[in-house]
Amino acid sequence: DLLVVGSANADLVIRVERRPAAGETVLGSDLVVHPGGKGANQAVAAARLGARTALLARVGDDGHGRLLLQSQRAAGVDPAGVLVGGAPTGVALITVDPSGDNSIVVSPGANARLAPEDVRAASGLLQASRVVSAQLEIPLETVVEVVRSLPSGTRFVLNPSPPRPLPAEVLAACDPLIVNEHEARVIAGGELDGSPEDWAAALLALGPRSVVVTLGAEGALVATGEAMTRIKSVKVDAVDTTGAGDAFTAALAWRLGAGSSLPDAAAYAARVGAAAVTRPGAQESFPTAEEVESL
Ligand code: ADP
Repeated sequence: DLLVVGSANADLVIRVERRPAAGETVLGSDLVVHPGGKGANQAVAAARLGARTALLARVGDDGHGRLLLQSQRAAGVDPAGVLVGGAPTGVALITVDPSGDNSIVVSPGANARLAPEDVRAASGLLQASRVVSAQLEIPLETVVEVVRSLPSGTRFVLNPSPPRPLPAEVLAACDPLIVNEHEARVIAGGELDGSPEDWAAALLALGPRSVVVTLGAEGALVATGEAMTRIKSVKVDAVDTTGAGDAFTAALAWRLGAGSSLPDAAAYAARVGAAAVTRPGAQESFPTAEEVESL
């Protein structure tokens, strides 16, 4: 029912006392490897809630690729659309200092080889989906091909992360475009004044059918041509906000496919995002439907 088109990365995390300067070597903690990437995260988040979910992505023919396939299967995602080969699996090299600040180097690897023809070859997956959800950790021309390949009646949800200006053709397909403040600013061309309602109005003027602005602990704003609706967040003790946006987007896309209105889907997604920040990590932090219920 839900097809996620996007990235799959191995996140390689080492804790350090301080970052090395150029030419310097420092010792760090034992390496921890997490399955990640926004596409893989969204697919796992949706499947854990109970959504029938498939992932269209590309990984390398290597150990990281097998880790990603295994984590998708374990969450219940249909991995038939996960293509293997062409380049090493995408990797994020992450160092974390004692204050918790991250320094990250991303090697897109196989994600950069997820091509428009891979989308065309996956027409069966597209035909079977009510909602298609994408992000921007794969080539923009691949996202353009997704938009061109959408079956009539299939809804398109985009979280433009990492953000860059979008062609009108992609913007026009978004229902909704889901952005945080930083993403909103880049998509709007750098200028963004006033309240989230003003940002949403500026984004709607670019052509998406609807816009959702996520506001962290402040919740979210849903905007269509007809109405703007504030979505309250759930009060929780935030431990780690990694993956909150991915959990939010996945939950919203799933509920839309199940027939919920956009404000109802966003209210459910806010509960899922809140649950995800109460636990460390990304995929490890995503809740089941029962856990969302008992929040
Ligand atoms: P991103 O990670 O993309 O910047 P946000 O931080 O806005 O996204 O988080 C997405 C959603 O998760 C928010 O709209 C909110 O509903 C929920 N959320 C995030 N942080 C918190 C928090 N500290 N408390 C409660 N809900 C949160």
